[in-house]
Amino acid sequence: VNADPRIASPFLLRQSPGPFIAVSTPTHPPARHAIGIDIGGTKTAIAVVDVIQHRILSRTILATEAGLGFDRAVGRIADGVEEALRQADVSRPWLAGIGIGCAGPVDPIQGLINNPFTLEGWDRCDIVTPLRERFRLPVFLENDADAAAFGEFVAGAGQGTNPMVMLTFGTGVGGATIANGRIMRGVLGEHPELGHIPVRPDGPLCYCGIAGCLESIASGTALAAAGSLLGMPDARAVFAAADQGHLAAKAIVQNATHAAGIAAWTLCHTLLPQRLVLGGGIMETEFKRFATAMRQHLNTVTQFTRDAVDIVPASLGNDAGLVGAALLAAPKS
Ligand SMILES: [Zn+2]
Repeated sequence: VNADPRIASPFLLRQSPGPFIAVSTPTHPPARHAIGIDIGGTKTAIAVVDVIQHRILSRTILATEAGLGFDRAVGRIADGVEEALRQADVSRPWLAGIGIGCAGPVDPIQGLINNPFTLEGWDRCDIVTPLRERFRLPVFLENDADAAAFGEFVAGAGQGTNPMVMLTFGTGVGGATIANGRIMRGVLGEHPELGHIPVRPDGPLCYCGIAGCLESIASGTALAAAGSLLGMPDARAVFAAADQGHLAAKAIVQNATHAAGIAAWTLCHTLLPQRLVLGGGIMETEFKRFATAMRQHLNTVTQFTRDAVDIVPASLGNDAGLVGAALLAAPKS
């Protein structure tokens, strides 16, 4: 595996290469395209990405339909890859490989999806082998939060920073750290879940095993659940009502931004990022509100240079996961 020229690249993510990494033989021009696959609970996006210019050349969107079976889904994903390649009209020698970001938990070392929670029935499902065999390309699998953070780091709001932490506020709260140009992993190669750090011991009980984690208070699901008690249809309605002075809605929003502030405090004291990138659907409209609360919490810091930590919005939007997935397979630029 050390014959792989990418082994010295800061963008080579695998700290201990898994058995599924094919060794590329550099007999053709350096690859400039890669396939990115972003597998979510409801839909799967597939793209051909120019990994030098960070441009999406073509994309295909499928309903994931996890409950209809893993093998069926893999077949449809592979057909989607063929379709995306046809649309992009990319010649095979220019293809570096396939990168997959998937709603976790995943095992990036073994190439397994272990997520029966949001992908019904997908437990210990090997997605790497069938794609590698069909396309004869190296295939990389990561947690989707890690793929999105890597996308922002290489091609978006986190460029040139070290370390970079990204938090994604959507249905849940995801988080990932890029340190020295690599996705930071935990034991067994697993993904540290920054969205489940505790912020309020008296908060709602979360499926992660404690009450009052960041996700249980500041996710879209949590905001919508709190808002539904006031007859509000979703998180967006809660923010709108708060802006119009609705006191109970204001309290829900303040709980969420306060939770984000405490989380920022914890993340800065444990990881001390140069840049904290905030992404996900909620941040498309509410970035300023959350960043301000985080900044207020950090204003009393004494143990590090607080102005050295930047808080910025993600810049790749919904494409971060897709671009980041493709970049997992990119050679050194
Ligand atoms: Zn939790």
